[in-house]
Amino acid sequence: MSAQIEVQSWHAQTAEDVLHALETHRDGLSAAEVERRLERYGENRGRPPQRRSRLRRLAAQFHNLLIYLLIAAAAVTAGLGHWIDTGVILGVVLINAAIGYIQEGKAEHALEAIRSLLSPEAVVRRDGRRRTVAATTLVPGDIVYLQPGDKVAADLRLFAAKGLAVDESALTGESVPVDKGTEPVAADAALGDRTGMAFAGTLVTAGQGEGVVVATGEATELGRVTGMLARVEVVTTPLLRRLNRLGRQLAVVILGLAAATVLAGMALHGFDPVTLFLAAVGLAVAAIPEGLPAIVTITLALGVRRMAARNAIVRRLPAVETLGAVTVICSDKTGTLTRNEMTVRSVATASHDYRVSGEGYRREGAITGGEPQADRALAALVRALVLCNDTAVDHGDPDAPRVSGDPMEAALLVLAHKAGVDPDALQRQCPRTDIVPFDSEHRYMATRNRLPEGEQVLVKGAPEVILAMCERAQRSDGDAPLDSDAWHARAEAMAAEGQRLLAVAAAPARSHPLHRDHLQGLTLLGIVGIIDPPRSEAIEAVRACQSAGIRVKMITGDHGVTAAAIGRALGLAGSDRAAVTGRELDAMDDAAFARVAREAAVFARVSPEHKLRLVQALQAAGEVAAMTGDGVNDAPALKRADVGVAMGGKGTDAAREAAEVVLADDNFATIEAAVREGRVIYDNIVKSVLFILPTNAGQALMLVLAVLAGMTLPITPVQILWVNMITAVTLALALAFEPPEPGVMARPPRPPRAPLVPSGLWSRLALVALAMVAAAFGLFLLERSQGRDLAEARTLAVNTLVLVELWYLFAARRLRAPTFTRDGLLGNPYVLGAAGLIVAAQLAFTYLPVMQLLFDTRPLGAGDWLRAVLASLPALLLVEAHKWWYRRQPAAGPVRAAGVGVRS
Ligand code: ADP
Ligand code: MG
Repeated sequence: MSAQIEVQSWHAQTAEDVLHALETHRDGLSAAEVERRLERYGENRGRPPQRRSRLRRLAAQFHNLLIYLLIAAAAVTAGLGHWIDTGVILGVVLINAAIGYIQEGKAEHALEAIRSLLSPEAVVRRDGRRRTVAATTLVPGDIVYLQPGDKVAADLRLFAAKGLAVDESALTGESVPVDKGTEPVAADAALGDRTGMAFAGTLVTAGQGEGVVVATGEATELGRVTGMLARVEVVTTPLLRRLNRLGRQLAVVILGLAAATVLAGMALHGFDPVTLFLAAVGLAVAAIPEGLPAIVTITLALGVRRMAARNAIVRRLPAVETLGAVTVICSDKTGTLTRNEMTVRSVATASHDYRVSGEGYRREGAITGGEPQADRALAALVRALVLCNDTAVDHGDPDAPRVSGDPMEAALLVLAHKAGVDPDALQRQCPRTDIVPFDSEHRYMATRNRLPEGEQVLVKGAPEVILAMCERAQRSDGDAPLDSDAWHARAEAMAAEGQRLLAVAAAPARSHPLHRDHLQGLTLLGIVGIIDPPRSEAIEAVRACQSAGIRVKMITGDHGVTAAAIGRALGLAGSDRAAVTGRELDAMDDAAFARVAREAAVFARVSPEHKLRLVQALQAAGEVAAMTGDGVNDAPALKRADVGVAMGGKGTDAAREAAEVVLADDNFATIEAAVREGRVIYDNIVKSVLFILPTNAGQALMLVLAVLAGMTLPITPVQILWVNMITAVTLALALAFEPPEPGVMARPPRPPRAPLVPSGLWSRLALVALAMVAAAFGLFLLERSQGRDLAEARTLAVNTLVLVELWYLFAARRLRAPTFTRDGLLGNPYVLGAAGLIVAAQLAFTYLPVMQLLFDTRPLGAGDWLRAVLASLPALLLVEAHKWWYRRQPAAGPVRAAGVGVRS
């Protein structure tokens, strides 16, 4: 175990004393010192989640009604001296358990690996510089910055706090955020009263702060309280639970049926009870779809892995199913639908409208129009944009600048370069003395800086907000009263070009601390217009969603006119109408709100509360809504949405915790890919069910019929066990790898409560089961009537049965599309592999001496195989005919009041 600092009452000491005791200072540790301390204290992570031990996991595989039944059967056969049966039954039990164990392990492993992609980060100060590092590298003595939405990564003693409030419910259960400060408290204060501390695992809800790490990993309060037992989530979803329940119900029914068969066999035909008992066991094993849960789990895990490869990280498994049923996606604009690579394109000051050339974050480019050098308002504006800014752009490689922080702020720094100002030098010259951070509720930020002419308050934000704070406007020759209407008109004109706007203002600082209430009577410096082009892949993805019957809505904090322009560029259905603004939403009654929520495509100047109301209104109208968000205050909407989607890049920890899915690349196209994947997964599960149910039913039916008719069993119980074992693990599993059907995104969403087996398909299942019985039983009877040896006829029947399953596997790959196409036959290599395996297994079953001994099989001749193929093929043809009929059925689309499909 690594060393830890002796536990002290950090909360009772002054911040200075704590810094001193930890041998650190506000500029942070050096990289070398961090290394040393990492060595000494270990990484900042909790104890690895408690996993079920291998033995327990293996043991769990045997905990199953069916397995108990098999073990009992093995005991009885052993008691009767039927050693071969005993061996085969135990073999089935062991193989079943081994497969379940391996598959479950794989699924758990895949999910765990995906979750670890979401490794938390922390913003620290090291070597005197602000940096983002992996939270695991934090050491005692590190200086950490806190911002709204951050999950605190280690226990901190705060030495700076501004309006800082922290939600400590993860630790104390107290759901009201606690206000934090820097003062020491009594040594015996309860955890919730230690206001000078920020604890690991808690969420910053407001304000900003800085603190020094006093404990990491298991030494944190959270680590001590819970041992950081991040439990491994059990792999389960509503669908899986539904299937498990179905399986249990089936098992009970089937056991009843088996018992009835035994009784009937004894009463009607006077069969020997032992034979009947073995037949009943075979029947139960054949009929119970015991492989289904494992197949569903694997299908889900594989799908989740495919989604992760496409940057959609699923945090909660049930979301996978819901994704496939999504009917409306409410997406963020900036960065998600747009590239978030911003460039200042125009600047308006009192004297001029300037244009700015250049691309991306490269410094090349110029400000043109008028006389930029002579415009004092422009100089003041550029200076304010640099100082009221928390972002850094590294131009180390001039062709590939790197942004750390907000892309829009980065664009402002690039503008400074174009105006001949070096942002770094300016920031050093004019240190910041206070700040009101940006938040999307207020839509502006303010700082106070020490400028050569004295302390100044600098404010930048959405024009409507800033204009309302201003009384005057800066001109080259001094300042003049603000003509608010003229400025609004200029802003509108810039926004109509799709530019995102930012107004800048300044005022001499007064002595008291910076506060929202005091931001009045400012002087406007100007407005900048920033372009943020739509992502080309988002345009594609929007189109794909709309043809899949999923409506896309854009929700943004941006200006209405800008938002509408971007909405049009993206081709959002309904974006020809003006954007609905948050203020308009506020003025609506519930009925109007509900209507607008459904019909409008672009919502602008909205706050997180509006997002929540929008989700609720959509859900009330029967929609399945996915909603994106990134801020702390988006968390309620994300939680409420059917699928909450958080941004991995710009999103806060708070949003990520609330979301079901995290987009590693913040890209809208990724949501579309996830929805597509969700549909494929659901399809594949349905296909597996459709494959397994009739094959099991067919096998069981054959035994029941034989017993009831008083005939010799066409297949012995051990043979049934064999068939069931090899087909369950090879054939059905291959469907988990089934690639998407061509039209997955060309059909309307599945109604969320739709039955697993569409009603038109029950007849197909019955058809398959009957065709299977007819083929295997029919051939058996035919052979017997011609005096064929019983063991040979049985071998032939088993092979016929397996062949029907094999053909049906190819047919089951597509619900509607015909099988006899190139893609239908060869499209899934796993199906081909499974088919190869089955053929090999059946050859072994038929020709290997041990197998002949175990299963009482006999070698077959070429003519036998031909007859088996001929007997089994009609089943496939029947399914094809059924598909043809099914394709002609009116598509049973979702029935909902709001209607379906693409709106235009
Ligand atoms: P979006 O939904 O497009 O992400 P935001 O909520 O981020 O919108 O921003 C809304 C408005 O707030 C922007 O149009 C801009 O005027 C202003 N704004 C955004 N970021 C900042 C910032 N860092 N500083 C000041 N104002 C900002
Ligand atoms: Mg934003």
